[in-house]
Amino acid sequence: MRPLWCAVLVGCSLIPTVIGGAVDAGGSGEGRLYESVAVSPSVVMALHNNGSNISCVAFDDGLVFFDAGLSTRTASAFRHEMEVRFERPTMALVLTHAHLDHILGMAAFDDVPVYAAAAGRPRWEHFIAVEWDERTIAGYASVFPTLPEELPDAVLRLPTDWFSDELVLGAAEHRLVVRRTGGHTVDSSSAVLGADGVVIAGDLVQARRRPYFGEPDTDFPAWIGTLSNWEALAVKAVCPGHGPVIELDELREIRVWFEDLSAWASKLKTAGVSVEKMVSHPEIPDGYWPDEDAAPGWWAYCIKRVYDAS
Ligand SMILES: [Zn+2]
Repeated sequence: MRPLWCAVLVGCSLIPTVIGGAVDAGGSGEGRLYESVAVSPSVVMALHNNGSNISCVAFDDGLVFFDAGLSTRTASAFRHEMEVRFERPTMALVLTHAHLDHILGMAAFDDVPVYAAAAGRPRWEHFIAVEWDERTIAGYASVFPTLPEELPDAVLRLPTDWFSDELVLGAAEHRLVVRRTGGHTVDSSSAVLGADGVVIAGDLVQARRRPYFGEPDTDFPAWIGTLSNWEALAVKAVCPGHGPVIELDELREIRVWFEDLSAWASKLKTAGVSVEKMVSHPEIPDGYWPDEDAAPGWWAYCIKRVYDAS
């Protein structure tokens, strides 16, 4: 049985603010690693584009981190910053799902328990077995451009603690409930810190950017249902897997887009439109993200997935 931690919570503004500015690569001039965004008095999110965001929840006895991003160096820097800021040790890492851009930085947490949903175990075992030859690295680098420079510091290992559908950290009204709902992937897990009205969403929310939903185990009803549940809770802030912290209005916009996309795919499939034509179909629902010059190569996988699921 793992210890339960009591969160330190005082009145919270729930207006995300950047604290301490941007953290660079040790003054080396290599560029910004992340921005620390204060989401609530006990939640800080590292916002950046090199893999997933990393979120930190401060409990009385220590810190719990969610996701490790792609970079061990970035995860280590954020962990150290939070240990100094909250003056307490790191207690655990929770990984929201077994996608490489969320787990490759996990060596920064090799001295604490690591929690993940057991449903993701096959994907974990797949990544741990990868032989990182030049061809494989080039393939992944086409999706994650910084992966070649992050690999030398990366150590992938199985989580130390698996949970099935629910993991509860904290106690009483300051409970942090982690639930595996599936959606983005079968192991997609997220956390609701009820006292703060904060959700740590993993890739169930990919804010202000084109979302990825191209896995065989992507489950649109489960995904939409989870977003709807958070809306019903009237949560105040959502820490996404990628992109900035959002509030309820943008959460609703994302949920509506997924509903529209599912309905659109179903309608066209019923009308006999091929999946190839759907990828570039002019009537695809307008995205909730900023315009781009062109869709990435993986977009076709996403459209195929929603087509197959229709
Ligand atoms: Zn993902």
